[in-house]
Amino acid sequence: MSFTHIGLLCSGGDSPGMNCAIRAVVRTAIYNGIKVTGIKRGYAGLLRGEFMPMNLSSVGNIIQRGGTILQTSRCPEWMKKEFRAKAVDIMKHQGIEALIIIGGDGSFNGAKALWDEHHFPVVGIPGTIDNDISGTEYTIGFDTAVQTAIEAIDRIRDTAHSHARTFLVEVMGRNSSAIALKVGVCTGAENILLPHDKVNHQKLSDDIQRGMARGKDSSIIVVAEGPTAGRSYDIQHVLKDMFHLDAHVAILGHIQRGGSPTANDRFIASQMGNMAVQSLIDNKFPTVTVVRSGKVLMAPLTECIMKADHNFLEFQKLAETLSI
Ligand code: ADP
Repeated sequence: MSFTHIGLLCSGGDSPGMNCAIRAVVRTAIYNGIKVTGIKRGYAGLLRGEFMPMNLSSVGNIIQRGGTILQTSRCPEWMKKEFRAKAVDIMKHQGIEALIIIGGDGSFNGAKALWDEHHFPVVGIPGTIDNDISGTEYTIGFDTAVQTAIEAIDRIRDTAHSHARTFLVEVMGRNSSAIALKVGVCTGAENILLPHDKVNHQKLSDDIQRGMARGKDSSIIVVAEGPTAGRSYDIQHVLKDMFHLDAHVAILGHIQRGGSPTANDRFIASQMGNMAVQSLIDNKFPTVTVVRSGKVLMAPLTECIMKADHNFLEFQKLAETLSI
């Protein structure tokens, strides 16, 4: 089948670099004579018929902008079969023959349902700062989020050093260790607490005191937010109450989600957007654009619908060794 009209949406959490992928999809499609309809606010917008015709200039001057010009959403209705059937009717009525979805594993599960139930052609592009999708070494936005956190921690380190302070710096990552580990290694953090680690306060206190004893002027503990954002405050209280240690808390929060994408994110997103359209032209679907051994490739959707925390755990030992 050769496609003449495709739909494009972002779903789930936004990430810097999504705009680069949108631009690459639109430009590659138009280059190949394929019409693109942008769908605003993800699956929810699709169900409401929020369509936006895309042309070459609608993606002009967006490559450097964080967030997504199409906006995104979470859509509880999409979990129900009847709403997905309604979406297929809406797309058919609009003339949309295939759908490209930029999002995380949840969004890919939504895409898989569309394929399984209706054989509606779908291609996924992994966009999440967490770098936690199975089947790919990389997801769009991770590099920018890490860079933002590193810049923030470098600033915190300046003041921590001047006042000889300990800081608990909380970074994003509910289930994913990737941001915490990469940021921890790159900022020379004295300790890194991963999302599902049970905090060993005794060890944390021993490490901080050992650092002080050998003349360290500051300690940075990188804390992945884990299932409950703000857990750094609990750790702060235990350090104070049980070990008489004063630690300051800095929660980086959503600043890690925004901002201009790095060169790495722009480059990978541009390749992925291009390849997603190519996959449809080649009649390869349902698929996801992935990075494997550093190269951008297509993979079957079924290999990419799970959350996975494997990408960075191999660096845990490196972080421990370098922080003694
Ligand atoms: P992300 O794509 O970033 O992982 P979510 O997990 O919030 O974000 O998923 C985004 C949207 O994808 C959900 O709001 C829902 O509409 C859809 N979705 C998630 N999981 C499923 C599923 N198992 N089946 C169908 N749709 C799903």
